[in-house]
Amino acid sequence: MWQAGERSAPVKRESGSGALSLSVLQRAFEQSGESILITDARNRVVAVNATFSELTGYSAAEILGEDPKILSSGHAEPEFYKLMWQSLLQDDFWQGEIWDKRKDGSTYPKWLSISVIRDEAGVVQNYVASFNDISASKDAADRLAHLAYHDPLTQLPNRLSFETQLTQSLRICAREGRQLALMVIDLDNFKNINDTLGHHIGDEVLQRVAHRLRECIRSSDLVARLGGDEFVVVLPEIDGPIIAARVANKVQQTLADSYQVDGHALYATPSIGISLFPTDGQDAATLLRNADSAMYHAKSVGRNNHQFYASRMNAAAGERLRLEGALRLAVAAISPESCEFSLHFQPQINALSGQVIALEALLRWNSPILGSVSPLRFIGIAEETGLIQPLGDWVIWEACRQIRELKLRGFDKIRIAINISAHQLRHENLLLLVRGALACNELQPSDIELEVTESTAMQNTEITLGVLDQLANMGVLLAIDDFGTGYSSLAYLKHLPIQHLKIDRSFVTDIETDANDAAICAATIALGHNLGLTLVAEGVETEAQREFLCRLGCDVLQGYLYSKPLPFDEIVTYLQARQTLSE
Ligand code: C2E
Ligand code: MG
Ligand code: MG
Repeated sequence: MWQAGERSAPVKRESGSGALSLSVLQRAFEQSGESILITDARNRVVAVNATFSELTGYSAAEILGEDPKILSSGHAEPEFYKLMWQSLLQDDFWQGEIWDKRKDGSTYPKWLSISVIRDEAGVVQNYVASFNDISASKDAADRLAHLAYHDPLTQLPNRLSFETQLTQSLRICAREGRQLALMVIDLDNFKNINDTLGHHIGDEVLQRVAHRLRECIRSSDLVARLGGDEFVVVLPEIDGPIIAARVANKVQQTLADSYQVDGHALYATPSIGISLFPTDGQDAATLLRNADSAMYHAKSVGRNNHQFYASRMNAAAGERLRLEGALRLAVAAISPESCEFSLHFQPQINALSGQVIALEALLRWNSPILGSVSPLRFIGIAEETGLIQPLGDWVIWEACRQIRELKLRGFDKIRIAINISAHQLRHENLLLLVRGALACNELQPSDIELEVTESTAMQNTEITLGVLDQLANMGVLLAIDDFGTGYSSLAYLKHLPIQHLKIDRSFVTDIETDANDAAICAATIALGHNLGLTLVAEGVETEAQREFLCRLGCDVLQGYLYSKPLPFDEIVTYLQARQTLSE
């Protein structure tokens, strides 16, 4: 395809041709795997080879006499071409990557080399351009880079990419005296979704979260996934904390909407911690650590909110350490003679007869160092540190001992409900312990009831289910606590060997004013009854709530309306008073 052979002598450079004949050179040109295009001194095309036509879609006839400009994709700035021509005039050579356009309009990257051919007098005769389509190797390289720097699930930048970009942004901010905000976002209750509905649903939620985050953050800001349900946002150009707070509000609002996945309406609200450059740290590691502790603070003050890092956060961390230290000491010091722990008891009332049918044992800690500490504060720490094991064992022994005391005082039809944490259920040792405690106190299995929270029960590991089954086979009653706060379906409950369902206090609180809560209670009671379960309502505080729940057919009521949790002696007095009343 040496189309313009007669009109020009494109390979005239004698120095390079040596002893080769013109026809050999001509064949080399025609058969070259590279696309070659030759122009004359006015930069009009005088020759192209077959590979050129294959790649660009232009036949020789179509391109001859044209300016190679018609191949340009228009992606490059005029400045780019200016530099290219400068280099050609100075060095007689240029090479680089450039995007061109095929005849059909599609664009592609090519690696282009241009040489200038001059005559003996140094006058430009021709320009010889040779090039390759490099899309394939560029794609492969891009894909590799993408894999190394992105999270495969959400396609967001990963931790490596985030750290590199944050370090870069910090350098610019330091140089230009600008502020930067770093946000760590952790999803509330995500573990629940994963544990109860499975990882594929969890993955889907993470993808949706990533998408919503990307949509609500400016494209110049960075959104990355650090792993699990933890995301980060970097705002590299802010005028002050107020801007960061505004963005955090927007993130909260955006993520708070429900996610419809596989017929489930799921919620994954965020807890957000924010640290600022330069006040909260000068480098990426410090800023991340501080945003992280701010995020934990956000979790501890009730989730679905944002908190700035501040020195008081250190105080909170110190406070937690103090609590953990004191708890370790207290658990180690448990003995039959003295103990910082005690049990309080709250009655559960049969809604129809008004009789006390059970007492829930609730753990209390009176620390000589810290005073009285709420279980809401220390149970979580006991679970994280493994202290729940010995502490939970103590609760079971103590509860059984006190049932015996009750029986000795004539109350032999009252069951005691004991709260069991997920950690305890994971150990077969629980069975031995329950058997031992019952036997030592001459009790029947039906004298106790174990409460496990909904999310614990749904961690349907074989061990958990196995332990629950064995407890049920022994004749121990089982209840699902705080029902409605997890994501289990009532249908799933069919597979659990439970008898009681405790509707979470949060639904009871607004039962008269919030139509949703009322509807949830009504549906739970009706469906629970269909499954043969006894329904217990927690946190009944008012007469109106009681009436409402009775109308819905709730079987058992528990709450301040009847009694707060009381120490053993006071609960005995309470039981005696009610007994006298009903006689
Ligand atoms: P829970 O098992 O759902 O216990 C019910 C909680 O609601 C108790 O709080 C109780 O005092 C409170 N409550 C009962 N009626 C009312 C009411 O009418 N209004 C209001 N506002 N609150 C009411 P408490 O005693 O602070 O216990 C909190 C949680 O700590 C328990 O929730 C349980 O999850 C955990 N917990 C307590 N003792 C133990 C224990 O021995 N072992 C384990 N693993 N967890 C325990
Ligand atoms: Mg409970
Ligand atoms: Mg509860």
